[in-house]
Amino acid sequence: MTMNGKSMLVTGGGRGIGASVARLGAAAGWRVAINYTANDKAASALVDEIVSAGGDAFAIKGDVGEERDVLAMFAAVDERFGRLDGLVNNAGVVDRKARIDEMSVDRLTRMMRINVIGSFLCAREAVKRMSTKHGGKGGSIVNLSSVAAVLGAPGEYVDYAASKGAIDTFTLGLSREVATEGVRVNAVRPGIIDTEIHASGGQPDRVAAMSGFVPMQRAGTADEVARAVLWLLSDEASYTTGAILNTSGGR
Ligand code: NAP
Repeated sequence: MTMNGKSMLVTGGGRGIGASVARLGAAAGWRVAINYTANDKAASALVDEIVSAGGDAFAIKGDVGEERDVLAMFAAVDERFGRLDGLVNNAGVVDRKARIDEMSVDRLTRMMRINVIGSFLCAREAVKRMSTKHGGKGGSIVNLSSVAAVLGAPGEYVDYAASKGAIDTFTLGLSREVATEGVRVNAVRPGIIDTEIHASGGQPDRVAAMSGFVPMQRAGTADEVARAVLWLLSDEASYTTGAILNTSGGR
């Protein structure tokens, strides 16, 4: 495997879309730091897989919604790689299907803390390292939004949809804020993707149930989303910033 000399941090990289980004990113020559929060087995199996294929990867446990954990995560990347060229703000959660009149403050706080504040904290630390204003060499940030941001997810999880709406606005604003500092900021909006996130929200059959509503009549794979993320991360996308790319089979 030929390394490209660059390194990236993927939050929530132990499973699902993040794991595909880590795996395909390593195959494209990136050194990869894989953050996760609970599933040690999944993260360490992925690191082993990448390292045995000749790549360079390590795992860092931590909750993106906790500032202390985010600082430790970036310190570990500094120590291990000595540079940061890419951040993929991928860690995100859904919750049980519910209407607004059933949503507790604990649920709302968790959703916004992980999906929104987590992405802000990680972007802040990445900009401190990448921005030419801070002596960095530039870099690329890709945020994971969702088509829920534009569909609203009524009767399912409007809180999740709104958290992804915040990610879209954040992507636009931050891209313009750091546009002259060598940092590009883009987002990918996946549709129905076949990962374990649906089961984590109590809907293990959601992919099968929703596929018929997708114009392409099928769910997407984590790898299909990861390829869009990797393009936005790469120099191939050198004039693309503030873009929000639907990766949703037309949904
Ligand atoms: P997933 O299969 O549930 O995997 C989530 C990953 O995030 C896991 O590695 C998990 O760690 C990690 N994670 C969860 N909470 C975290 C936290 N607080 N701090 C750090 N890591 C955390 O999810 P996915 O389907 O791949 O989704 C990835 C992203 O795409 C999310 O932002 C999601 O909203 C977005 N998205 C997904 C879909 C879809 O249909 N799948 C559609 C639109 C958007 P552990 O492994 O340790 O549990």
